[in-house]
Amino acid sequence: EGRVDFQNVCFSYTAGTEILSEVSFTVMPGQTVALVGPSGSGKSTIIRLLFRFYDVQGGCILIDGQDISKVRQNSLRSYIGVVPQDTVLFNDNIRENIRYGRISASDQEVEEAAVAADIHHKILSLPDGYNTEVGERGLKLSGGEKQRVAIARTILKSPRIILLDEATSALDSQTERNIQASLAKVCANHTTLVVAHRLSTIISSDQILVLQDARIAERGRHEELLAMG
Ligand code: ADP
Ligand code: ADP
Repeated sequence: EGRVDFQNVCFSYTAGTEILSEVSFTVMPGQTVALVGPSGSGKSTIIRLLFRFYDVQGGCILIDGQDISKVRQNSLRSYIGVVPQDTVLFNDNIRENIRYGRISASDQEVEEAAVAADIHHKILSLPDGYNTEVGERGLKLSGGEKQRVAIARTILKSPRIILLDEATSALDSQTERNIQASLAKVCANHTTLVVAHRLSTIISSDQILVLQDARIAERGRHEELLAMG
């Protein structure tokens, strides 16, 4: 479960400017795909189309063989998890902030998600750095740590597919790589992962799609593409 098919997908925000022109690709269940390409090449748009923030204007997107334009938003939300760029945390400890991903989750489930996303060491801290257990003020959560909270929230929902848009991320490259490594570990062959990136931050993926001029200009495994520069 978690197969993604783009079949001749076309999309424009404004008439006359095609952002995606007959884009086709397949991601097999549990695989990782990285979307790369120059700024403005449509990486974020592909992510937005996948969770139906916009509808395609030509072609179709299938998830496990089902056309997503015919799936109810609620069911789509139940099998696609989107890790937001800017995570809003409320003034309670990180454990409760993670539980927000699925309110019915037990403490143990929340803690497992925190371990998987590598944020467990902050679980009793407040977003502003105050640790409720030891009553000490620590450091505020960094951007990377906030994103880890977002990832923990997402994995708590056990989606079939996780989407992450780092195309315009404010995080430094090393933090991005660390986050990718955690996510790749979490997803390991059972959750499909679609990530929009800067090429320089890619650590590994089953497939890389290079977008340019509204099309997929290159596709391949990352060793091949990195070798091409
Ligand atoms: P990338 O993620 O590769 O940087 P995007 O998918 O965000 O690219 O954007 C592709 C193109 O579509 C860019 O030229 C961008 O300016 C344009 N664009 C993105 N969002 C909108 C929007 N809501 N309305 C109009 N144009 C948009
Ligand atoms: P991101 O790539 O992370 O979505 P952007 O800075 O490209 O961030 O876009 C921020 C917001 O502005 C998004 O909601 C996007 O859809 C919208 N946007 C981007 N480019 C344009 C554009 N050319 N015209 C109108 N809205 C745009």
